[in-house]
Amino acid sequence: MPVLAIDIGATKFAASIITDSAEVVHHREIPSSQLWDGLSDLLLKTRQDTNEEISRIGIGSAGPVNTKTGLISPVNIPGWRNFPLIPRIQELFPSTEIAMVGDAVALAVAEHAIGAGKGSRNMLGMVISTGIGGGVIVENKPLLGDYGNAGFFGHNVVGDYDGKCNCGRKGCIEGYSSGPSMVRFANGLGWQGDDFRDLANDATSGDACAIKAIDFGVEHLAKAIVNITQLFDLHHVVVGGGVIEAGEIYWKPLENALASHSTSLNLVEPIKLLRAQLQRDAGLIGAAMVVGLE
Ligand SMILES: [Zn+2]
Repeated sequence: MPVLAIDIGATKFAASIITDSAEVVHHREIPSSQLWDGLSDLLLKTRQDTNEEISRIGIGSAGPVNTKTGLISPVNIPGWRNFPLIPRIQELFPSTEIAMVGDAVALAVAEHAIGAGKGSRNMLGMVISTGIGGGVIVENKPLLGDYGNAGFFGHNVVGDYDGKCNCGRKGCIEGYSSGPSMVRFANGLGWQGDDFRDLANDATSGDACAIKAIDFGVEHLAKAIVNITQLFDLHHVVVGGGVIEAGEIYWKPLENALASHSTSLNLVEPIKLLRAQLQRDAGLIGAAMVVGLE
C-alpha cells in the first residue's frame, strides 16, 4: 500500500506519495519558512493527489528529533523548538500509523536498500546541504539510538576555528562544511556571493577564493567522516544533499581529503566514497521504508 512520505529540511519541506515499488509520485515542496501553516496545507494537498488509501506516513526530519515524543528541534529551523510534529500530523490524519527518523537516516535506509549502498552490510549515509546530517546502517539495519539521533554528527567539533554554528558551539563540522559555511568562509576571503552553487561555478572557473573555501570545507568533512567510520568500522560512505550536486569541483577534493585522512583505515580496506543515487528522492523513499514500505 502506498505511503505518504515527508522530508523536513532546513530549506524546503517536501511530501510525496511513495508507491509499493518505491516510485515517487505527486511530489510537492514548499519553503521551510512557511512552517506548520505551509506544511499542513502541503500534506493535505498531497493526500488529495491520490485516490488510494493511505494508512501510513513516514517522516525524515532535520535533527535533532525525539522519536519517543514525536517532537523535533531542527538546529537550522529556529522557529521549531520541541515542535510537536507527529502529534500535529496525527491530528490531520487520525487513523494513520506514523514513523519518523532523522533525514540522513532516511537517506541511508533508501540508499542502502536500492541505491549506492546496495549490497553493503554496514554503511554511513550523509546529507551535506544547509546542514550536515548522518545515518548509520549496522548489520543491514539503521542504528537509531535513544531518541533517533544516532549518526547525527553535524555538531561534532573538528577544530578550533570560530565556525559560528547555529547550535551555539564553535568548531562544529557543520560550521565548516555545510553549503552556507563554505560560502561564509569564501566571503571572508573576499568572494562576493551568497549561494553555494555560484561558489562552485566560480571554483570551476578557477576563482582562487572559491577553490580555497571548498578545500577548507572538504578537509574538515573528511576528518569527520574518518572519525565516524573508524568508530563503527564502516567502509561504505554514501553522500547526498544539495552540495554534492556541484559535481567534480566538490567531489574530487573530497576524495583527495578523505584519502589523506584514512591512513589507518587504509591498512585494512580503503573507504568507498559513493555519491547518492536516488538524489532528491532518497529522503522520501527512506522515510516511506521506515514505516514499512515493502
Ligand atoms: Zn553545531
